[in-house]
Amino acid sequence: MLVARREALCLVTDLPMSDFAQSVKQQADIVKVIESYIRLRKAGAQRFTGLCPFHKEKTPSFSVHAGQQFFYCFGCQATGDVFSFVGKIENVGFPEAVRIVAQKCDIPLPKREFSSPEEAAGARQRTKLLELHETAAGWFEEQLRGPSGALAREYLAGRGLTVEGIKKFRIGYAPDGFHALHERLGGVADEETLRASGLFSSKEQGDGGPGPIYDRFRKRVMFPICNEGGRVIAFTSRTLETGEKAGAKYINSPETPLYSKGQVLFNLDKAKPAIRAMEFALLVEGQMDCISVFLAGIQNVIATSGTAFTEQQAAILKRHTSNVIVNFDPDTAGANAAEKSIALLTEEGFAIKIVTLDGGLDPDRYIRERGAESYKEALRESRRQADYLIERARMLFPGASAEQKVKAMNFLLPHIRRMPEALAREQFAADASQKLGIGSAVLREEVRLAALRRRDRVEARTARLSEVEKVLMRALAVTDPDGAEARLLAAEALTNNAPWFEHLGAFKAMQALADRAAKDPMDAVEDPSQKALLAEALLGESRAPQANEVESAVQEVQERAMEGRLRDLRTQIAEAERNGDFAGLALLTQRKLELDQILRRLHGQKAQGR
Ligand SMILES: [Zn+2]
Repeated sequence: MLVARREALCLVTDLPMSDFAQSVKQQADIVKVIESYIRLRKAGAQRFTGLCPFHKEKTPSFSVHAGQQFFYCFGCQATGDVFSFVGKIENVGFPEAVRIVAQKCDIPLPKREFSSPEEAAGARQRTKLLELHETAAGWFEEQLRGPSGALAREYLAGRGLTVEGIKKFRIGYAPDGFHALHERLGGVADEETLRASGLFSSKEQGDGGPGPIYDRFRKRVMFPICNEGGRVIAFTSRTLETGEKAGAKYINSPETPLYSKGQVLFNLDKAKPAIRAMEFALLVEGQMDCISVFLAGIQNVIATSGTAFTEQQAAILKRHTSNVIVNFDPDTAGANAAEKSIALLTEEGFAIKIVTLDGGLDPDRYIRERGAESYKEALRESRRQADYLIERARMLFPGASAEQKVKAMNFLLPHIRRMPEALAREQFAADASQKLGIGSAVLREEVRLAALRRRDRVEARTARLSEVEKVLMRALAVTDPDGAEARLLAAEALTNNAPWFEHLGAFKAMQALADRAAKDPMDAVEDPSQKALLAEALLGESRAPQANEVESAVQEVQERAMEGRLRDLRTQIAEAERNGDFAGLALLTQRKLELDQILRRLHGQKAQGR
């Protein structure tokens, strides 16, 4: 899926770049921008590495080059500039990527930067919807403080929330009645935008058309849901009504142009710094749990919105950490969702630990009844996923009968198969056989097979470039005036003796670089696979090559070309001899002598050079 997405984006980014985009690219620091999404570590003078956000991996093969302002992944060959990165990770087109980068770098946007009227309209609508949500959030907060919010305040106090906590999470109250919010927002946006916001409902009319709109959230405590940037994009709400009128206990915003349930992790905006600092995320089930845990001082906590983890959410979380402690209650109605989440996180290569709280309490109640310290203690005692699952299998299928053991194993096998690491699978399988007391050879064999069966993760590919190619490409990519001589030498050799270079895998990239004029090296090479080769060359070594290094590289290329020609000549000579073509033979032999001479001279130069 990611690959298809990348191709789609390449088409977009191949459009000529506007002046504005150019200027954003010059001002933006690709390292800082990428660091706002994933963790990077300095790995060289100009080079940073981290875990690739575009494929599953456990050892970093993703690199960013600060000098040349591009990224490259040795595992999946994803590469490009700051805009391609943002486009790919946010799944947006080029103009939107430019806007995002500009915003991140505090560069004011020009009035028009859209490729189509539809896109302009879409962006306008999203801006308007953000404004609506901001206004609504503020208004709900006001209502909570006002006279109609008394019951809600009482409810929140009962759940142990302080005024500061309420303020921190911008908790509010939607009063009873069908039109209060509608009246407040009526002047802010037109009817169509209000309908698109998800803040209102309407009943279908007899003729199938939409009826008049009314407030979706009534007599409910309102919890804003924010995007990673901290802007309110949706709400989740809890009813204060009891009895028949109450409706669902929790109601969330529907899917809107701003909000897609499967793509948001609740509280990630506030938890992000702590997740990075502590190098793990704590995952809880409900928003209320998440809020109490955060306010108790454990700030690296996030929640799904009562649904199982999605692939997109896993990808988002992976940018910040690969370690998760899961605190779900295994015996609630959410047990299924919890197990699905654990399964997905395992497949996505997360290291998972699991906390089960005494007395079947949820985190919110546990903290209120036993305090934050004792909750932290429980986190420290979290168990490895394998231990947890084996324990659970024993609980679900107790007893020592062969039948129960088979059932327990069948419960565990899919979990074992899902683990990306062969070693972890074997360990898990061995532990399970031992702890469940499985003596049967057949069952052991089945477990062993489960441990073996799983496609291996993408391995970082080994370099496909020769040293000579790397030197030449680096010389041709030089932007610094100090490297002008080296660049000129390489470009001249390439233009004057193109046939020497033809057999090199990176020939096309070199040609494009030689002709690039003032263009950015990474922009000059258009073919994606050639671009990848260039990235590989530039990331290998940040120092620009000296003129004499280029000279010997050119010489080596010449030598190899001559040797290739010599081989061809030998074949032709043998053929001429067989055919009795003496005229041809004389000519070929003459050429061979000349080539021998050139090669001897080249070898002599090399010997001198040593
Ligand atoms: Zn990758």
